[in-house]
Amino acid sequence: MVDSVFMSELSWPEFEAKIAGGAPVFLPLGATEQHGPHLPLGVDVVLPTGVCERVARAVGGLVAPTIPYGYKSMPRSGGGELFPGTVSLDANTFSLVVRDVIRGLGHHGVRRIVLVVGHFENAWPSVEGLDLGLRELRRDGIADMQAMRFEYWDFVRRETLDRLFPDGFPGTELEHASLLETSLMMLLRPELVEIDKAPTDGPAKFPTYDRFPVPEGFVPASGVLAIAQGSTAEKGQWLMDDHVALITAAVRKEFGL
Ligand code: ZN
Ligand code: MN
Repeated sequence: MVDSVFMSELSWPEFEAKIAGGAPVFLPLGATEQHGPHLPLGVDVVLPTGVCERVARAVGGLVAPTIPYGYKSMPRSGGGELFPGTVSLDANTFSLVVRDVIRGLGHHGVRRIVLVVGHFENAWPSVEGLDLGLRELRRDGIADMQAMRFEYWDFVRRETLDRLFPDGFPGTELEHASLLETSLMMLLRPELVEIDKAPTDGPAKFPTYDRFPVPEGFVPASGVLAIAQGSTAEKGQWLMDDHVALITAAVRKEFGL
């Protein structure tokens, strides 16, 4: 018997047995998006998947295949759509993908689902997908699906942020391809990080509004919005420890596990 937290590595009878035992299913919501010259396009897939893998192990859950495309990158939080390799879905498409996956899982007996956002712009479209999925399930006579939805990076202690940013935390929007994501990638996939290519032109200085079309020079040319220098795998471990501990506690509390 294969024992894996990854749904894609289980046979259907193994999946069926785990779900019958009440296993929560984690659905990471990623993106294919530029993350500067020093990180790969798949950061927003790797990181929520890695968090979900660890939490699922702790609570006896499963990780559904990560959605690899996200809602459109915005200049002030992800650099925008102009960078080569950033490939995104319309909000409607993204929500319907989330809806369909929830519907499919629900029809196969899943009753606890956790949407884990790994890309800033997925926040509201994931709410929409969740709402539509639950509505369809209710109409199909399945009214007892329990769900959680959150951004993994919000599960961090103030003390950890103070240790990481002695000069003040710039905020999660500007953290795109910066210290948090770079440190977590150095922990999970160090072979994909080229820290010597991290730019030094940050942090970005954005106004408090968007512009369409995006003016020349609005976004730093590197695509990095804050500072990646100083990233280490050890800092990534501090973050991962907080993410896993705090998310595990929240899932246990909400689902009574
Ligand atoms: Zn990212
Ligand atoms: Mn992103």
